[in-house]
Amino acid sequence: MSDLPGVVPTALPAGLPPAPDDATIARLRAELAEQHPELRVIGTEAMADLNRLSRDFFAYSPVLEPLLQGQRAQLVAAASSVEQVMAVAAACARHGVPLTCRGAGTGNYGQCVPLCGGVVLDLGGLNRLRHHDPATDVITVEAGALMGELERQLAPAGRALRLVPSTVRSASIGGFIAGGSGGIGSLRWGFLRDPGNLLGLEVVTVEPEPRRLQLDAHGSEPLNHAYGCNGILTALRLPTCEAVDWVQLVAGFGDWDAALAAAQALGRSALELNSLCLLEDDAALAMPWPTGCSGPAGEHRLLLLAAPAAMEVLPGLITRLGGQLLWSQPQSQSRGIALRELGWNHTTLHWRADHDGWTYLQLLLPQPEGPCLAELRRRWGAALVWHLEGVRHQGAPRLACLPLVRWQGVERLAQLIDDCRSLGAFLFNPHVLSVEDGGLGVIDADQVAAKAAHDPAGLLNPGKLRGWLER
Ligand code: FAD
Repeated sequence: MSDLPGVVPTALPAGLPPAPDDATIARLRAELAEQHPELRVIGTEAMADLNRLSRDFFAYSPVLEPLLQGQRAQLVAAASSVEQVMAVAAACARHGVPLTCRGAGTGNYGQCVPLCGGVVLDLGGLNRLRHHDPATDVITVEAGALMGELERQLAPAGRALRLVPSTVRSASIGGFIAGGSGGIGSLRWGFLRDPGNLLGLEVVTVEPEPRRLQLDAHGSEPLNHAYGCNGILTALRLPTCEAVDWVQLVAGFGDWDAALAAAQALGRSALELNSLCLLEDDAALAMPWPTGCSGPAGEHRLLLLAAPAAMEVLPGLITRLGGQLLWSQPQSQSRGIALRELGWNHTTLHWRADHDGWTYLQLLLPQPEGPCLAELRRRWGAALVWHLEGVRHQGAPRLACLPLVRWQGVERLAQLIDDCRSLGAFLFNPHVLSVEDGGLGVIDADQVAAKAAHDPAGLLNPGKLRGWLER
């Protein structure tokens, strides 16, 4: 079967270079060992590690799983300094070996899975908070820093990251910028690619003599969400926001339409909310609720993170919107799982733990959302379970949707995608390999130009930037 264009791939992209031969990899390894004996390198002698460090969470997609499960690096280099990153980049450029960056490997679309072998560069050791400007609260942080650790480092100064994924505890900030899109905080701050969320990048090029570049906000745009195809990020400049001890709230609704109307109304309110997640009753049943929050008894659940000041108004408002406040607790006093680890793709994670044969989609719903959801429910019934997230899109409150989808094969998935699009939903397809197909669907000439400038031999993460393959 050929690809269903722009929908789901059934093969790896055409035009990929062959994996380097073993002799080339052995020469590259020997050279690195001689010049940088302190650099940690893993080869085929540790096959389990090589496999582990070549994977992410692509198994959420039954489309990607068969394509990616056999793909792995021939060598992993674990860098802990920019000098080591430059040494690996130089060696790959000299030997013509593909180079794929890895943060923590929590991506969902095989972004960090090498499609033609070569070297995986693990940046987890490059993890220092280099600078916190006391005047602006702008931070400069190395790319491999874990976001949870960064939160802990910023807390004493009363600051926090604006946006974090639900994998905040395990994912790196460089991987989030290169591979993520938004998450907790998107209700206030929009998405990572919105102007103002990334202020600058330090980038290493892949050339025989690699350059270490400092890019400003504008220069960084083409590398923001480019899967590390057009430069190795070694440090990032980011704005921070005030740290708030968010109050976690769970509200129950017996009626789906009332729950949806409440999600819409709260997203438009002047209450300070950092996230808003709506789970249909079946999805709510599958979640591991925080300690002290009882499990659902068949109701739909609205999960909120609210500023303490919002608590004067919120409980009464929830009641007037037809809901019932079931539980609340400051995040700092959380025991067991935190509420922010039930939303975004953690909903999918918890659901899949109990439900074989399910996958998901990512949509931005048209406004008003009700008719699109009702029609999809009419056509697809119990094959879809609803999970909505409040976001800010181009400055306006919107609802994104990560429905849980019963897997019924590629053709049915393509039909579902077609239905969603024809009803006005915008799809961020999690079943595709390229930057473009997972995003706006179109080639971004600036991303391709940045690749030509920073990776002229096309060695970085081959196959993931469609604009480069098709140029
Ligand atoms: P990786 O998976 O290691 O890499 C991601 C991409 O970035 C790859 O293309 C890699 O090559 C590239 N890359 C990594 N580091 C660098 C670097 N230094 N230089 C250049 N390129 C680099 N995503 C969201 O956006 N929001 C969510 O709420 C969210 N929730 C999730 C929940 C679950 C349960 C799971 C499994 C995933 C979720 N994700 C989410 C996806 C993923 O966790 C995040 O995008 C995360 O930030 C990726 O970081 P990472 O360090 O794991 O990156």
